[in-house]
Amino acid sequence: MSTGVELRNIVKRYGTFTAIDNVSLSIRDNEFFALLGPSGCGKTTLLRTLAGFEMPQEGTVLVGGQDVTHTRPRNRPLNLMFQSYALFPHMSVERNVAYGLEMEKLPRDEIRSRVAEVLASAQLTQFANRKPDQLSGGQRQRVAIARALVMKPEIVICDEPTSALDVSVQSQILNLLGDLRREFGLTYLFISHD
Ligand code: ADP
Ligand code: MG
Repeated sequence: MSTGVELRNIVKRYGTFTAIDNVSLSIRDNEFFALLGPSGCGKTTLLRTLAGFEMPQEGTVLVGGQDVTHTRPRNRPLNLMFQSYALFPHMSVERNVAYGLEMEKLPRDEIRSRVAEVLASAQLTQFANRKPDQLSGGQRQRVAIARALVMKPEIVICDEPTSALDVSVQSQILNLLGDLRREFGLTYLFISHD
């Protein structure tokens, strides 16, 4: 299935305030697309529009060539993952990553093997039994990535996932995202103010 995304002439207003003023962009399959802009310029609003949590006043949202502008978020042929730490503090790394699969009631063996694969890819195997507060910021961010990837999304939307991290850790996370893109054939929309 094609997962390319196209936004055409999107206008989003809140009352008289225009948050997005006629923005068009297209993201190809397997592309790492970076959206850069200062705080408050409308990045999060644009991704919420793509995901269907905001309705634009003007413009069209296409996914895989299909017009989804008026489609509910959960019915869009997209699998979006919003990245934030927001880990469950009382659960181990392994349980945090397994959580979404458990909600889908997948067989235990499949859950165990998918979690193990993703933890290995994110270099987290040795931390599987730790709780989030026993990890560094960069390690916590890797858990958030692993938790997104284990769901096998086609498109991963990362809204400023590295902005709270040191520059050196940021570049490690970016390298990891690049490796995982090749390994899992993902498309990214990566948002940053920096
Ligand atoms: P960014 O993610 O680039 O920092 P946002 O998309 O969050 O920016 O916000 C863009 C602009 O739209 C900001 O000026 C913000 O105050 C405004 N905005 C965002 N959401 C709302 C809302 N629900 N109601 C009114 N204004 C909003
Ligand atoms: Mg934002």
